[in-house]
Amino acid sequence: MVHLNSGAILILSGPSGCGKSTLLKELYKQIDKYYFSISTTTREPRVGEQNGVDYIFVSKDEFEQGIENGDFLEYASVHGNYYGTSKKPILNAIEENKLVIFDIDVQGQEIVKKSQLKDFVTSVFITTPSLDILKQRLNSRATDSSEVIEKRINNSQIEIKSIDKYDYIIINDNLELASSQLISIAKSAMLKTSLFLKDDIINSWIN
Ligand code: ADP
Ligand code: 5GP
Repeated sequence: MVHLNSGAILILSGPSGCGKSTLLKELYKQIDKYYFSISTTTREPRVGEQNGVDYIFVSKDEFEQGIENGDFLEYASVHGNYYGTSKKPILNAIEENKLVIFDIDVQGQEIVKKSQLKDFVTSVFITTPSLDILKQRLNSRATDSSEVIEKRINNSQIEIKSIDKYDYIIINDNLELASSQLISIAKSAMLKTSLFLKDDIINSWIN
């Protein structure tokens, strides 16, 4: 059968510690054709993080060279470090009809929503039910120093103000419910009218 639609982009944003990585693990069990966009960052790897799997870890000079070369679809400075999405693998994955998943901040979401790829995008903001619960989760994850946690909490109070710029909101309280909500959104993201080759569909109906 000929392909009548293309891949799509699903953007996840939300404060560090709201549960994006945890929810994505559940989503991957339900979606076969996906590609997780591995961002490039200048931040230090956390314990257990692998270069080329969780992030591509580079120096500030290397990142700035990438900006100059036009390698990034979007990039931003978050918590004092650069983070960016490389263009090339995204374009390839869309061509392969995959659901391309971005875990990027609110600044990155705004850039992608205005980019050449805007028609492919569905975005979802994920949050905890309260700031106190976010603090508890960041502390219980125990991957960051108290200074880093404080920066992330301060940043979350800025990020939450952009919640109305998203297509969907998930309040990650009960993990099972939040996972099923993310799965529904991801499945719908693949069915947006803008992804379909409408003329080909119409022509196939007309002799
Ligand atoms: P993010 O990727 O958004 O930074 P994580 O997925 O690392 O967040 O989650 C932060 C912490 O919160 C982890 O320790 C994770 O196990 C926990 N967590 C995630 N979702 C829930 C939930 N619904 N209820 C309780 N704890 C959760
Ligand atoms: P962390 O350091 O917790 O992995 O990520 C910190 C923040 O950076 C999160 O809000 C995450 O969504 C965001 N982030 C990760 N990769 C990118 C990226 O490529 N671009 C942008 N704009 N933000 C990113």
